[in-house]
Amino acid sequence: MMTLELQRFGVPFRRTSKTKKRMRRTHLKKEVGTITTCPNCGAAIRPHRACAKCGFYKGADVLNLKKEETTEETK
Ligand SMILES: [Zn+2]
Repeated sequence: MMTLELQRFGVPFRRTSKTKKRMRRTHLKKEVGTITTCPNCGAAIRPHRACAKCGFYKGADVLNLKKEETTEETK
């Protein structure tokens, strides 16, 4: 005996309206991360990260960006 193998799955009862679709997609957006300003130079930085402009973090020069520039010049 031959059996018909039909795949059964749920089918939407009715078409989703433009409004419902748009209401659902209001939550689909990229979030803007928190941005603070560097207390040393005032550049926009992300919190808990060393400043890319001046290399300061928690009031100390942790990246030594300017020192590296001067050493490269003397070489
Ligand atoms: Zn800075």
